Amino acid sequence: MKIIPLRQADLGEGFQVARALPTKDQRMVGPWCFLDRIGPVALTGGAGMHVAAHPHTCLQTFTWVMEGSILHRDSLGTEQVIHPGQVNLMTAGHGISHTEDTLPGTGNLHAAQLWIALPPEHADMPPRFDHYPRLAQWHQGRQGHLRVTLLAGRFGSEQAPTYVLSPLVGMDITAQDTDDDTLALNPLFEYGVLPLAGDIQVNDAMVSTDQFAYLPAGSQKLTLSLQRKARCLIIGGEPFPNPISMWWNFVGHTRAAVEQAQADWVAHHERFGSVPRAQHRLQAPPIPWIHR
Ligand code: MN
Repeated sequence: MKIIPLRQADLGEGFQVARALPTKDQRMVGPWCFLDRIGPVALTGGAGMHVAAHPHTCLQTFTWVMEGSILHRDSLGTEQVIHPGQVNLMTAGHGISHTEDTLPGTGNLHAAQLWIALPPEHADMPPRFDHYPRLAQWHQGRQGHLRVTLLAGRFGSEQAPTYVLSPLVGMDITAQDTDDDTLALNPLFEYGVLPLAGDIQVNDAMVSTDQFAYLPAGSQKLTLSLQRKARCLIIGGEPFPNPISMWWNFVGHTRAAVEQAQADWVAHHERFGSVPRAQHRLQAPPIPWIHR
């Protein structure tokens, strides 16, 4: 098991998030190629999270909200508020653009945003958007105090409805009281554990909220110990068969695909459409492997 420190990243307008993926130590966990923990943060005096219109390709954005409400708008015309306990899943495929804004009056914001890379055969699929207002929940743990929400994929006999295109899993575990449990893992999967609240014991290691634990494929089980009110996100999947290129908001299976996406965004190409009523559009920074 590897313990990786989170890094601070800026979403724009000085809004800080903690980034677990990618880091120089770990690029992906299965097809999961990006993981930000947003907050917990108190939004006061009109401050909020406001991400102007920006494009994506060859990935799915996966948003899981614990506190606060976020309005998603995209170039398909979707307008969807996401509340705690819900998942928004945007499949970019060949191209989409979107905005994300916290609603006025949102007191505290705590969320996770992840990206799932699309496999080559689906890289250029048409974009789509899915919202999941309710997900399967159950209790487990030695004392039955761990509330599990299955966010994506399969765990045990449960299957999430979430639309995904690779073998993977995502789940939230919340300790309603101090408890521990041993989870059976899929040995074909690699896994990551991100504490969302409280320090979590993962196997024999304490993992704090500024760290991320990575378990390579081949593990049969995982022991978790959570104090009352502690919470974590677990992601897993089969190691992605091919390396991906990632730059800014683009994923591609070749650098050429990412370069084309960037050129098309700069040229206002129709593949990214436009987000109704969006007033600002993010500028793509120069691609580092070209401009050095
Ligand atoms: Mn986005």
